[in-house]
Amino acid sequence: MRVLVIEDEVRLAATLQDLLELNGYTADVRHDGESGLDDALTGIYDVVLLDVMLPKLDGFTVLRRLREAGNAVPVLMLTARSEVSDKVEGLDRGADYYLTKPFDPKELLACIRALTRRQPELRDPDALEFGGVRLDKGSFTLSCGEKSVRLSRKEFDICELLMRNRNLVLTKESLLLKIWGYESDAEDNNVEVYISFLRKKLAHIGAKVRIRTIRMVGYCLEEES
Ligand code: CA
Repeated sequence: MRVLVIEDEVRLAATLQDLLELNGYTADVRHDGESGLDDALTGIYDVVLLDVMLPKLDGFTVLRRLREAGNAVPVLMLTARSEVSDKVEGLDRGADYYLTKPFDPKELLACIRALTRRQPELRDPDALEFGGVRLDKGSFTLSCGEKSVRLSRKEFDICELLMRNRNLVLTKESLLLKIWGYESDAEDNNVEVYISFLRKKLAHIGAKVRIRTIRMVGYCLEEES
């Protein structure tokens, strides 16, 4: 499992990284909100540890932007004891759990286990498969062999549509309408952004399928030749 630690206190961040790695996690560290958000948006993380007071973007803003982008990664917020009133705000904004500094390493590890258990690993018999890639409807994961990655709701919907229409060309217009709906003011570049997220995830799991761009038209999911 891969954990992203967004914490500007360099020593604490390094301690967390060591603790996580000793306990079998892969941990990446970012020391400011902006680069932390960029990394979290890649969707390759199973859990994000997010400090509240951060340079460039504070933890609440990072969390809000993450959720606005449809990213559902479990977030554990870390805050100083003096900021306990922030707790309510964090939970309202979509944090999954709160831990007050200084915390007991055992408590931190227990929280991470609880948050990752919430992602169902059960195999849904209705999972879609194409070219060795499996889209699991129960857990919102995309997997290939041993590797898997969680998808946000939008990524999942787009991936499902592409897999159901494999080898067919889907226009950007039809993706916009089917995924965002008629009421939405989403534009072509919203589609492009999510397609690029999906491509990164397909590459991350070593998939042998690709989303081909059909210039001026749309996209087609096909097996690599
Ligand atoms: Ca801080």
